[in-house]
Amino acid sequence: MDYRSTQGDLSTILKSPTAILQGLAPDGGLYVPLHFPQPSYNLASLTSLPYQQLAATILSWFFDDFTSDQLLKSTTAAYGDQWDDHLIAPLSSKHAGNYYLELFHGPTLAFKDIALQMLPRLMAQAAQDTQLEKQIVILTATSGDTGTASMRGFSNQQGTRVIVFYPAGGVSPVQLRQMLSQPGTNLHAIAIKGNFDDAQTSVKHIFNDHAFNVRLAQNNYCFSSANSMNIGRLIPQIVYYFAAYGQLVQTGAIQLGDKVNFTVPTGNFGDILAGYYAKKLGLPINKLLCASNENNVLTDFFQSGKYDRQRKFYLTNSPAMDILVSSNLERLLFDLYDEDCVTIAQLMKQLSTNGHYQVSPAVFAKLQQQFVAGYATPDEVEAEIKRVYLNDGYVIDPHTAVASHVTYQYQQQSRDTTPTVIVSTASPYKFPETVYHALTNQQVKQSGLPALQQLHDFLGDQLSAGVQSLIVQTPRQEKVINPAEMESLISKILNLK
Ligand SMILES: *Cc1c(COP(=O)(O)O)cnc(C)c1O
Repeated sequence: MDYRSTQGDLSTILKSPTAILQGLAPDGGLYVPLHFPQPSYNLASLTSLPYQQLAATILSWFFDDFTSDQLLKSTTAAYGDQWDDHLIAPLSSKHAGNYYLELFHGPTLAFKDIALQMLPRLMAQAAQDTQLEKQIVILTATSGDTGTASMRGFSNQQGTRVIVFYPAGGVSPVQLRQMLSQPGTNLHAIAIKGNFDDAQTSVKHIFNDHAFNVRLAQNNYCFSSANSMNIGRLIPQIVYYFAAYGQLVQTGAIQLGDKVNFTVPTGNFGDILAGYYAKKLGLPINKLLCASNENNVLTDFFQSGKYDRQRKFYLTNSPAMDILVSSNLERLLFDLYDEDCVTIAQLMKQLSTNGHYQVSPAVFAKLQQQFVAGYATPDEVEAEIKRVYLNDGYVIDPHTAVASHVTYQYQQQSRDTTPTVIVSTASPYKFPETVYHALTNQQVKQSGLPALQQLHDFLGDQLSAGVQSLIVQTPRQEKVINPAEMESLISKILNLK
């Protein structure tokens, strides 16, 4: 299938393997399908497929340059026994009125594993298909979970190096430990002084630094990205919306064809965009609820049509959502502006130079039709973890709690009784300090692994393999640098001439 950039005209078109390998378009835009797929399928039989086959089918709609065999082989390996639930994305029973789609049963305990167990396999295949001889350098900015999941996904994969930049002090103690202890000789995680947006902006800048790219090429390297800006990471995320729907039908919670809502705890807008794509592919979705934390730039955007990043940045108890520039919103706008790449380029330019932009009334109307938005403060997050726990003992993580709170508020205020699935993006064990405090009103004795142990003692449940492996690995020393030093550090790591 052909791909194009959201900010480029049709003079530059490439095939999916190249789009996956490049990650970001050289013009600063994001790759999108030239023609969005319009597959015909039987919803009942599609959604009763095992996860691996469902994934291979949906991937084949977008990545038909790979053979069905290759895709099925990859999905079978990506969604194998490194997951502690054979459904991969199991849907919970109803808790406090809603369903929770548990996307944290993979090796690093967050939903990023869904995409990042798959992306390295797509890249390896793409490198082979395009006869790429260069080594791939995966350069990634992370608010915590992408870093751990990409290190895990690419660990010791031949022909790849992974360099992850995360905000110093801006990730949770467990995330930090995961990044510093993931085994693999091709992995590097470095803290930068600044927040996630600083990391993401610098990474984008390095990607588009022509001179640096030339130097890389001379040393037989090329950049790629494992952020959700990479189309190869986004598409695998569509799958769990279909899987969730299938489970609702199979358990009799809904009838085939009934509409459902999904609430998505949102940062970079990748997860919820995958839901939007699922809807575009015909999945019966009523509303997509976009849930933010105190960094509620998206809440304001959906309510006013103005995106304004000029505001205070908060470090919250849902750190993976501490973001003010949600990159994947660009793909949604591209779609709502009927693929008008000139307008998209203008809006993105306004965002980087003035810090804000306003969408047209027509686009605003479309946004309001399909999305609902809300946010939760850190206190509301803790209160929501407790509310859901007191209902029937179900424990959710702070990110999921943001979504759960927004859903609860929306359901109280609206007459919408559509069955709702809350996308549960992380295991509570990834953020034990907040969860323990929410449940007991007491601080943990010590953050990180001791906190995890303390939460475990309190809950008395079974620890997943992902949590256990964390306990036995030894972390490396943390390295902290200024954003201005990123390029020189990369040169050093890669030993560039
Ligand atoms: C990354 C992440 C999010 C936000 O997802 P986006 O695709 O960036 O919107 C939410 N929760 C958790 C736990 C995450 O790791």
